Amino acid sequence: MTVKRRVVVVGAGMGGLAASIALSTRGFQVTTLDAADGPGGKMREVEAGGRLIDAGPTVLTMPWVFEQIFEDAGARLSETVALSRTMRLARHAWGDGSRLDLYSDVDQSAEAIADFAGAREADGYRRFCKRAESIYRTLRDSFICGSRPGPVELAMRVGLSRLPDLMGISPFTTLSRALEDHFADPRLRQLFGRYATYCGSSPFLAPATLMLVAHVEREGVWIVEGGMARLAEALAELARARGAELRFCRRVARILIKEGRAAGVETDDGERIAADAVIWNGDAAALADGSAGPEAARAVGATPAAQRSLSALTWAMTARAEGLPLVRHNVFFSRDYRAEFDDIFGRSRLPEGPTVYVCAQDRDEAASPVESHAEQRLFCLVNAPTRPADRPLTDAEIISCEETCFQMLERSGLRIVKNPGSIRRTTPEDFATLYPSTRGALYGRATHGWRASFARAGSKTRLPGLYLAGGSVHPGPGAPMAALSGRQAAMRVMLDLASTRRSYPAAMPGGMSTPSATMANMD
Ligand SMILES: Cc1cc2nc3c(=O)[nH]c(=O)nc-3n(C[C@H](O)[C@H](O)[C@H](O)COP(=O)(O)OP(=O)(O)OC[C@H]3O[C@@H](n4cnc5c(N)ncnc54)[C@H](O)[C@@H]3O)c2cc1C
Repeated sequence: MTVKRRVVVVGAGMGGLAASIALSTRGFQVTTLDAADGPGGKMREVEAGGRLIDAGPTVLTMPWVFEQIFEDAGARLSETVALSRTMRLARHAWGDGSRLDLYSDVDQSAEAIADFAGAREADGYRRFCKRAESIYRTLRDSFICGSRPGPVELAMRVGLSRLPDLMGISPFTTLSRALEDHFADPRLRQLFGRYATYCGSSPFLAPATLMLVAHVEREGVWIVEGGMARLAEALAELARARGAELRFCRRVARILIKEGRAAGVETDDGERIAADAVIWNGDAAALADGSAGPEAARAVGATPAAQRSLSALTWAMTARAEGLPLVRHNVFFSRDYRAEFDDIFGRSRLPEGPTVYVCAQDRDEAASPVESHAEQRLFCLVNAPTRPADRPLTDAEIISCEETCFQMLERSGLRIVKNPGSIRRTTPEDFATLYPSTRGALYGRATHGWRASFARAGSKTRLPGLYLAGGSVHPGPGAPMAALSGRQAAMRVMLDLASTRRSYPAAMPGGMSTPSATMANMD
């Protein structure tokens, strides 16, 4: 007689959904609770000007992570979600009128860089691509797709014969410093340094290892037809189809403890749900600060406030865009990148000279250009600091930053004709409300210094029965990475419950390998 093991997943972000799918596919009874009114977490869309706009992740990389999640559950991603690859990665612009497009294809980018800054810089770019690829290849299986290792364990996983490759990941050099080896042109250093912000970090503090993000992006940026939220919905649908129960507008207030282990959750309206294991997909900081009870607080290490990652100030809008023709992803760089990060991380204030990312969501490579007189969907983002709850950004600071941003875009050749009724602004304080205990930090702990990647929590906590998934834990932030963490947490739960099982969960179709086969490296 099989007794189904019950798992409660707190949060239906990428990590929570991936865990819910993996566990329900293997016959666990899964209940997934989220305080929001739908799935996706940060992968959210907002309404502005009567249209839906992606207001979280817009750059989808590593689609193979999601393909694997579907395959493991006996389904196919391509049958549910239409993805198209964009060969032009982004358009970059500076206030002096210079422009540079980057492509997936190295030769095409090298040619563009040669025209932009000369042949030596193009050679530097080719060397940079090789180095970024080598870092990625070294860390893909040993770090990104595995459980959280310590430095020694990482060396063992990479293998003695590949120690030179491991040294080549350059953990002790900052990204900005390493870029000097490849580029003399400060604009190119700024452009490639920006990849640190994908992990919520400063290029002047992050290790050169983050070059690998450039390679991940060059391997492919994908557009989800109908918006990124369709991917979140597809994952939620798959979880439901495999038997998971997804419940929204349900905030978990406490992890229940019985005989020294996590034994379920209590929602803020007093409902108690018993479970053999709990996976926490909120930010790990929310456990550490005691929001879910004192036992859970002792289960994870706190992130010191100074080590929190970037927040953001964003505007989702429908508006006319004149001047510089937009592609899907556009970046307008500040004059002084170091000053920008000194403001954010050093002075905890909005940057005086911000870099602005503009995602033109009606543009893709197949679509015909948007008429200049037509309103289009735009998502604009500047990096912002996190602040203590008793010292939030003031309206005046936010309005001033907003004016600076749009003036800066204009100086760089892009005039956005805003319609005040069609703008949805999200501030760091709004993000702090959406994602409790984060103070608005969107990427967990900043990847500053060589230890940072090892300092993120793994899937297992010090409290038996309590597990972690999401962008604040290993392997780190980003939609595919958070999804990988969810699979890790699910496998860890399976392995632990299998070793203490009353009985096996019912086997289900789908290709996910058995825990014991894949968990050799679990922490
Ligand atoms: C503006 C922005 C732009 C980004 N751009 C990109 C990008 O281009 N590409 C990319 O790959 N990544 C990007 N990211 C990062 C990426 O979105 C995240 O790393 C990833 O989606 C995080 O997933 P997660 O599993 O950590 O869950 P989250 O998205 O953090 O979701 C956690 C969920 O848990 C719920 N929750 C928390 N506490 C509780 C509780 N007590 N009870 C019930 N529910 C709770 C929350 O409501 C939320 O829905 C961006 C993020 C933001 C905000």
